[in-house]
Amino acid sequence: MIEFEQILRSQGYRLTNQRRIIVHELEGKRHLSAEEIYDRVKGPHPELGLSTVYRTLDLLTELGIVRKEDFGEGYSRYELATERVHHHARCRECGEVIEFNEELMEYLTLQVERETGFVTDWHEITLHGRCATCANA
Ligand SMILES: [Zn+2]
Ligand SMILES: [Zn+2]
Repeated sequence: MIEFEQILRSQGYRLTNQRRIIVHELEGKRHLSAEEIYDRVKGPHPELGLSTVYRTLDLLTELGIVRKEDFGEGYSRYELATERVHHHARCRECGEVIEFNEELMEYLTLQVERETGFVTDWHEITLHGRCATCANA
């Protein structure tokens, strides 16, 4: 939390209560949507509206504190940017998001660069399918 406060301060923002609450939710659970965050905080913090949650997430994303992810659901999910870089596989039946590590992706990127001369700045991959539980059901 100290770290986020420093990033905010260095950009001229304060660690307000609403920013603290939202970062705290993302510390507890990854890949939450804005609506899910809103559902989790509205009980204890009725002063936090959905539009505030969206605005706060936009700011945190802009400052590089939060990473915004698109799993093709028509809305974004968020996780803290301090998480190690990783990729996602999303179950289309239960919505579970599984993470897999970066090394396989690094390998694939190198292969593509070698074959095509492409220079990669950034990569992000999501696998779509069914988790083991849903696939076996
Ligand atoms: Zn599933
Ligand atoms: Zn993740």
